[in-house]
Amino acid sequence: MKVGFVGLGIMGKPMAKNLLKDGHELRVFDIVPESVKEVVAAGAAAAQSAADAAAGQEVTITMLPDGPDVEAAVLGPKGVLEGAAAGSAIVDMSSISPLVAQKVGKACAAKGVHFMDAPVSGGEPKAIDGTLAIMAGGTKEVFDRAAPLFHSMGSSAILTGPVGAGNVTKLANQIMVACNIAAMGEALVLATKAGLDPEVVFDAVKGGLAGSTVLNAKAPMVIARNFKPGFRIRLHQKDLRNALLAAESMKVSLPLTSMVQQMLMSLMNNGRGDYDHSGIVTMIEDMAQVEVRKPKG
Ligand code: NAD
Repeated sequence: MKVGFVGLGIMGKPMAKNLLKDGHELRVFDIVPESVKEVVAAGAAAAQSAADAAAGQEVTITMLPDGPDVEAAVLGPKGVLEGAAAGSAIVDMSSISPLVAQKVGKACAAKGVHFMDAPVSGGEPKAIDGTLAIMAGGTKEVFDRAAPLFHSMGSSAILTGPVGAGNVTKLANQIMVACNIAAMGEALVLATKAGLDPEVVFDAVKGGLAGSTVLNAKAPMVIARNFKPGFRIRLHQKDLRNALLAAESMKVSLPLTSMVQQMLMSLMNNGRGDYDHSGIVTMIEDMAQVEVRKPKG
């Protein structure tokens, strides 16, 4: 397929490369020229603007940090919508507020351009492997059109509802992951302060009801004191903020999400915004004056 791709960061770069590997024709744009060069070296054509990347394409994908960036790159001057032809589709795969996805979707519809939100879960390793989980919102027609592209980038793609539903699903995912990590942090701090080896505690509980993908991925990182980011605290703070804004618009209370979002903000203010989100534990450690690690000797 002829595809435009805008936003070549940690996630966008490997996603674009996987599309090229499967034979799709790509025209790519990022505000950072070095990122464009890297994907051009893998076989894409370079665009001069987001509008230029979208011109003449069946589908244009965007993979940007947050809602304001998507609004700027799609609706702004020289944006995707300026270049996209009526009847073509824009698929935004960034994690943004569902309210912004709906706003962008409406502006696209007014110009006869289809829009779908399709955020992903899995992080950089799964973006590289082409095994992302894709949560789409929009019509079945656009979903079917984008399906071959989803197939190149992900191992699962599910249509969850109309435009905005993809991001509601992603926010649900982010709430469960964040609260799970925070609970794991409290549990491991308590066990360590009681004099137990956190690795032994992890081994004892992982096969029971408290076992989870989060626990298996994050407890070993905490015990090894490895907070190199797979997913940054500052990005998770952004996701929980978007969850709270969406919840407020529906008069839904999310007390746990609100608390963990405040913790993430405090961690950012303490210079830990670029830690992996497993670093939530460090705030609980500070409060208990104990570090979760294997006992010495
Ligand atoms: P990133 O910051 O590495 O990449 C974003 C890219 O967008 C950058 O290259 C930036 O230069 C570019 N950009 C910003 N504004 C632009 C504009 N107006 N026009 C063109 N390019 C522009 O972020 P990322 O980690 O690749 O994440 C992208 C999205 O995917 C975010 O919404 C994030 O929450 C989500 N996500 C990330 C992960 C992860 O583990 N990194 C996992 C799942 C979902």
